[in-house]
Amino acid sequence: MSADTPLCHFCGAGLTDTFVDLGRMALANSYRSEADLAKPEPEYPLHARVCRSCLLVQVESVVPAEEIFSDYAYFSSYSESWVAHARAYAQTTARRFNLGPESLVAEVASNDGYLLKHFVDAGIPVLGIEPAANVAKVAEESGVRTEVAFFNRDTARRLKEQEYAADLMAANNVLAHVPDLNVFVGGFPILLKPEGVVTFEFPHLLNLINEVQFDTIYHEHYSYLSLLVVEKILAAHGMRVFDVEELPTHGGSLRVYACHNDSETHRDGPGLAAVRAKESAAALDRLDSYAGFEPRVIAVREALLEFLRTSKAAGKTVAAYGAAAKGNTLLNYCGVKADLIPLVVDRSLAKQGRYLPGSRIPIFGPEKIAEAKPDYVLILPWNLRDEIMAEMAHVASWGGKFVTAIPDLRILDAPA
Ligand SMILES: [Zn+2]
Repeated sequence: MSADTPLCHFCGAGLTDTFVDLGRMALANSYRSEADLAKPEPEYPLHARVCRSCLLVQVESVVPAEEIFSDYAYFSSYSESWVAHARAYAQTTARRFNLGPESLVAEVASNDGYLLKHFVDAGIPVLGIEPAANVAKVAEESGVRTEVAFFNRDTARRLKEQEYAADLMAANNVLAHVPDLNVFVGGFPILLKPEGVVTFEFPHLLNLINEVQFDTIYHEHYSYLSLLVVEKILAAHGMRVFDVEELPTHGGSLRVYACHNDSETHRDGPGLAAVRAKESAAALDRLDSYAGFEPRVIAVREALLEFLRTSKAAGKTVAAYGAAAKGNTLLNYCGVKADLIPLVVDRSLAKQGRYLPGSRIPIFGPEKIAEAKPDYVLILPWNLRDEIMAEMAHVASWGGKFVTAIPDLRILDAPA
């Protein structure tokens, strides 16, 4: 271990073991404008390591948080399946934990209020905590009370002094994105009522490994979490997990329910033992289980490049669907540029007219597909594959097909 060995951002041990090294690349969420194209684009190392002491898989935080959250082009509400997911969460938790007009539901990284507005509709008071001011403004305009702040111990103390105390706290898809886990997680027990519940949702590391989902690795995604490691992190902050659900979101996520260690009302649910058993069967508690991932990633890259080069040589055209972060990791790791994929489409108006970071592929609205009539549509957000194929079923009218690259290259016919 040398002086420049990075340290585990949970336990502080030196990180000497590689999970997968994806090389240097542009930030996955830094979409470029026309004017930006003349400027050099900063690239940062993207090297996932596993801590041999606590087994947290992580990438080093090499980019200042301010740079990541400024001009953040992602609004949750754009995906229909995500809106449905949020509504179901609000209904289920309100029932299960008897939430009503006297309760408080707080959400950390509450975005444009996509989740909390379902509680507002049910007459349950809410507090959103969101660092991006432009996004928080959208939430306020739709009736979701929102505090503009990064969540951490200090923010939690400040809110507690303002008499806030939460019955339910939601942190969905944020735990993996915080550069300092301990400062972040340490805020929850401060703001939570004695019998309150926190739910964390995060993509499950077990699925990342099994399905070769290396494209979910990017600079702003610091931690790749197993239940095993999340239980250790929460325990370090006086909390315990009492139930776990497996969700299909993001290619397979966990929703973990946690409470104060000394809670008297929350008993272990069946999901906890079930997921512990799965992770144990996959030997996630052993360091050597994490080796062998990188060669599978290299195989995905070789297959995609082979397909793109063969298609080009045969005079076939390929367009991409979905200007999401995971597509950028895939394209930039593979070194794909506009000569192989001349265009990408996305429903987000904030991204249209811009260019993907790194690959600099121009982004258009979805209607561009019908105009360009590509032979293949490469679906980058494979987790939304069925939704996208249904929306784009008209590609069959000119004989077009769909392609996904992960976990292996697949060519798919448009749905009838
Ligand atoms: Zn560690």
